[in-house]
Amino acid sequence: MSRTFTYQGSAAHIVFGEGKAETAGEWIEKLDCKKALVLSTSNQKEDAARLAEKLGPLAACVFAEAVMHTPVEVVADSGADCVVSLGGGSTTGLGKAIAYRTDLPQIVIPTTYAGSEVTPILGQTEGGRKTTVRSPKILPEVVIYDATLTTGLPVGLSVTSGLNAMAHAVEALYAQDRNPISSLMAAEGLRAFKAALPAIVKSPADLSVRSDGLYGAWLCGTVLGAVGMALHHKICHTLGGTFDTPHAETHAIMLPHTAGFNAVAVPDLLAPVAEIFSGSVGGGLWDFARSIGAPMALRDLGLTEADLDKAAGIATENPYWNPRPIDKPSIRALLQQAWEGSRPAA
Ligand code: NAD
Repeated sequence: MSRTFTYQGSAAHIVFGEGKAETAGEWIEKLDCKKALVLSTSNQKEDAARLAEKLGPLAACVFAEAVMHTPVEVVADSGADCVVSLGGGSTTGLGKAIAYRTDLPQIVIPTTYAGSEVTPILGQTEGGRKTTVRSPKILPEVVIYDATLTTGLPVGLSVTSGLNAMAHAVEALYAQDRNPISSLMAAEGLRAFKAALPAIVKSPADLSVRSDGLYGAWLCGTVLGAVGMALHHKICHTLGGTFDTPHAETHAIMLPHTAGFNAVAVPDLLAPVAEIFSGSVGGGLWDFARSIGAPMALRDLGLTEADLDKAAGIATENPYWNPRPIDKPSIRALLQQAWEGSRPAA
């Protein structure tokens, strides 16, 4: 069959390297800005304060109280002309929410592997409803991957965050709008995490393995921003939105099950996963997740079997594209398997 695809490269500047967070000031000036609002969560306020000190007069102020859904009004009126977000997906999300409303440029220094820093996507909760918006205004202008700021990420969170990123890559491999570059990046991202995560578990302070983790995060996040996601992200969105299950853990637990479910329909497209994780697609991912101490069962997140009935209903009520057709009974069975934490056959 002849090749048919469209491809658009990202407009973001990507900077990689130990100590590169210190170049944030140069980037603020290159963006023609003068005063940055520095964002972080309270866990990372010391790193944010150190960064602001380095920025000197280029820092307007630090807001170190980012949470999953910080009201944007709290920080939108700081007098800043750009935003520097230092942290994981929650902090990046707050920076994106500000940029979406004000069009201020963003510099992100990611410290988890979630990948939000390279997507033009913003998840928001307004009036009790979870929605997702996409806009070029949301895509950060500059991303600085500096491993020195990631050694404090606890091992458990490093594992679940890495599996969260890998889920972007697995779904990108079968995306309807995939292209040769997104597929190359997805497979390379999976390879990066296959090597990095066990090494991070063993030596969390090793900057070179932390840098490999960030490399995987960049690749997997980029494909999340570039192509459409399907069943896996839909189910995780449903579980997080309805039952408030923790973001990275939910992705980590679901990944072997959703990947195994779809492998039945698209074994060729998921062949890189079977090859990288040596086994069946779902089974190989499950063995890998277990070997690095990941949480394995939805029941450990406090979900009940009655919750699974509700989740299967919500996840199938609005039609969306998936490589394998879905219906409520098949999704309910998939959720049961993930709830029990049993090894997928496919
Ligand atoms: P997070 O940002 O919520 O961070 C979890 C905790 O880890 C926080 O308390 C944080 O302070 C701490 N932490 C982060 N890095 C640390 C470090 N290096 N050292 C010490 N502590 C550190 O977790 P997350 O999984 O990165 O982000 C989840 C959020 O991101 C969710 O809201 C999710 O919906 C969103 N997300 C959005 C996209 C997108 O494209 N829009 C993509 C992925 C995730």
